Amino acid sequence: MTVLGATGSVGRATLELIAEAPPGSFEVVALVANGNATALAAAARWVRARRAVVADASALPTLQAALAGTGIAVDGGPAAVIAAASIPVDWTMAAIVGAAGLPATMAAAAGGGIVSIANKECLVCAGRMLHAVAEAAGTTLLPADSEHNAIFQALDGTAPDSIERIVLTASGGPFRDWPRERMRAIRPEDALNHPVWRMGAKVTIDSATMMNKGLEVIEAACLFPVPADRIEVLVHPEAAIHGIVQYIDGSMLAQMGPPDMRVPIAHTLAWPRRMTTATRRLDLASLGRITFELPDYQRFPALTIAREALAAGGAAPTILNAANEVAVRLFLEGRIGFLGIAALVAAALDRLGTPAAPDLDAVLEADATARRTALDLAAGPAFA
Ligand code: NDP
Repeated sequence: MTVLGATGSVGRATLELIAEAPPGSFEVVALVANGNATALAAAARWVRARRAVVADASALPTLQAALAGTGIAVDGGPAAVIAAASIPVDWTMAAIVGAAGLPATMAAAAGGGIVSIANKECLVCAGRMLHAVAEAAGTTLLPADSEHNAIFQALDGTAPDSIERIVLTASGGPFRDWPRERMRAIRPEDALNHPVWRMGAKVTIDSATMMNKGLEVIEAACLFPVPADRIEVLVHPEAAIHGIVQYIDGSMLAQMGPPDMRVPIAHTLAWPRRMTTATRRLDLASLGRITFELPDYQRFPALTIAREALAAGGAAPTILNAANEVAVRLFLEGRIGFLGIAALVAAALDRLGTPAAPDLDAVLEADATARRTALDLAAGPAFA
């Protein structure tokens, strides 16, 4: 197996499952990260990986020094990442954050086996192309994102014409009850404090704005045979149910579990079987009650903006995603306000319209243009 994004939150959870499995269950071919050579070297030693690769070539000397004498091969730079992702394996975890993960995920999808996809931005930008590449190579794409994994489990191969709607649940993030006026003053440290999930910074901010759920609606439209208007979002603060499928006979199948990424990752790792995990079990009696409410589209406009980008099609989801990545970074750097994130994404979409995205080159061009546009727009005072 190979883990792309091995030093991140999802990568780490994946490596924990590997380390806890009976010896000899898994053989790690390659681990990939960006620039965190020290953490990557420690991870490679931990799971006895054959190869460790950093995308940022300037981190290669540190990686080399940290793994000297271990026999673990090292490499650096974008081409080395693609080469590592292209080594044929049975299973790949695609957990690089952002559209930066697209080339490596594409390379993995072209190589056969199973690709477990946490990197939702890849699906948002180039889902159709990723499916086409996977299909041509006989690769199985499995969703590792907890909501989509839940839907996948609840669908269990049922014919599309039996599905009435699917429901993605959302914890609602740390500002679920906050009036919009109060959100103006949210600081990065407030937004990084998610009430339920422990995740990387980007997806944590996306959860706070609910752009995460918007991206997930697009991701669901790409993964499942259900039109966008039958993909619903329901706020469920206890995060016990991760996804629901409602069938045409009125049955609803929900997947439940603890809010722990090791559960959906393990599902894709053992699929079509199951494997033992050491995760905390969901204790329904102590949970007592679970609640649901509709999302507030006025206070969380990112959800509406994402749905509109999905409906517009073409490169609009790519522009949405790229502008959001820029906006999240600017917010974390204190250069725009919390409410500026969704506003900047909307402004970038307004400015760029809906270019066609017939192939990967067009997607990459739209991504680059959207990043430049979002940076230009952010220089004005409107997003403070
Ligand atoms: P983190 O920020 O914790 O980790 C990101 C990983 O990607 C790190 O290993 C980082 O390496 C690596 N990386 C970043 N840029 C590059 C690059 N250009 N080339 C190679 N590697 C790169 O993110 P998460 O683990 O939280 O999230 C990963 C993905 O999974 C995201 O798309 C997220 O939306 C999705 N996801 C995450 C969930 C979670 O619980 N965390 C839940 C569901 C989905 P380095 O450390 O060297 O910077």
